[in-house]
Amino acid sequence: MTTISINQFKDYEGQSVRVGAWIANKRSSGKIAFLQLRDGSGFAQAVVVKADVAEELFTLAKGITQETSVWVTGNVKSDGGRTPLGFELEVTDLEVIAESVDYPITPKEHGTEFLMDNRHLWLRSRRQHAIMKVRNEIIRATYEFFNKEGFVKIDPPILTSSAPEGTTELFETDYFGQSAYLSQTGQLYMEAAAMALGKVFSFGPTFRAEKSKTRRHLIEFWMIEPEMAFVDHDTNLEIQEQYVSYIAQSALANCKNELELLGRDLEKLAQVQAPFPRVRYEDAIKFLKAEGFDDIEYGDDFGAPHETAIANAHDQPVFITHWPKEIKPFYMKVDPENPELVLCADLIAPEGYGEIIGGSQREDDYDRLKEEIIKEGLDETDAYDWYLELRQYGSVPHSGFGLGLERTVAWISGIEHIREAIPFPRLLNRIHP
Ligand code: ATP
Ligand code: MG
Ligand code: MG
Ligand code: MG
Repeated sequence: MTTISINQFKDYEGQSVRVGAWIANKRSSGKIAFLQLRDGSGFAQAVVVKADVAEELFTLAKGITQETSVWVTGNVKSDGGRTPLGFELEVTDLEVIAESVDYPITPKEHGTEFLMDNRHLWLRSRRQHAIMKVRNEIIRATYEFFNKEGFVKIDPPILTSSAPEGTTELFETDYFGQSAYLSQTGQLYMEAAAMALGKVFSFGPTFRAEKSKTRRHLIEFWMIEPEMAFVDHDTNLEIQEQYVSYIAQSALANCKNELELLGRDLEKLAQVQAPFPRVRYEDAIKFLKAEGFDDIEYGDDFGAPHETAIANAHDQPVFITHWPKEIKPFYMKVDPENPELVLCADLIAPEGYGEIIGGSQREDDYDRLKEEIIKEGLDETDAYDWYLELRQYGSVPHSGFGLGLERTVAWISGIEHIREAIPFPRLLNRIHP
């Protein structure tokens, strides 16, 4: 007997196979039992017909409980296109591996807090399965894109001695009597890596003690951070729009069923194609004022409603470029045409998902960077000495960006809240499970 997984049914039509699975759901009448199987690779219906099987087998099927693990043997049959899978199993044998008693997540509706308390089990649901498949596809497409473009994957450290994005959101820990911080970004290290390997990207966890509850902020999230030597601001944006289009189109091509199950508007996703519009920060402020926003002034960072209003005026992700220097981090390169501005961009996702990328050309001049570090009150002698030194040995123009994985997963999946875009979300009031 061949043991296969549900996603292999299409290659075994008409054959007898064995599948290891859990019972996701069950319906039965006096004559027939429908078991919804779940094996991680997918979901499939197994049909037990009383007239065709032994009495004990039908009784077992009829009484089987949700999440009981089983070995199921049967014939793979077309289901006439009733499901996206296209096949079901006509059961000839059923063996319980381990029983499941009183599984807490039933097919009825549950509240969010209850589901979050049961995240370790909630992950088994069809919806969570679909989101995790989309997340996996975005990760896969990310590696594919950057490898194709000649980038080298580099892993920056997670324990660091510096805090480039400011200290208010830092997790501090003891490092043998010295202070260390959990990484908020790998960027500074990626700049060093770019000077060694040219085009590099990282993909790893980052940590921010975000004190506010929003549907876009996690405490622990994953970031993709490419960094490129000999690349200026304009080319940086071109790479970003190609990358974001690539992951959107890959998800559409390879996770269509999952996106449909999640109720994603596929037409809108299909429209995501480079190039993306570019709007200067000052024009974005003017636009918001004209739209009637009186809670924002030139020099302010955008809040969620502002980002949503800007996004709604476009049918693509939008770059907001040329921000005032004073509201952006010290390492961004000053605009040669206006010293009050920096050569940077935030990429705002469509449909109210907010900022998914922050990026910039980096300051490559030693003296100017040193001045910025001192002005910010940062420690140029200790934490940032090595970073400054990168500008002493053949400094080159270079640029990079950071894309938040979970924000991107939420946007591509079309889900309300970022907490469902990561297997075990860490939030302001939650670190369990
Ligand atoms: P925001 O303005 O939304 O707080 P940010 O400007 O602080 O984001 P960056 O420092 O630019 O974020 O980080 C790069 C990217 O990382 C962001 O564009 C976003 O996609 C993602 N990101 C930042 N903070 C979080 C968070 N707390 N949870 C999830 N993703 C985040
Ligand atoms: Mg932030
Ligand atoms: Mg921001
Ligand atoms: Mg940002």
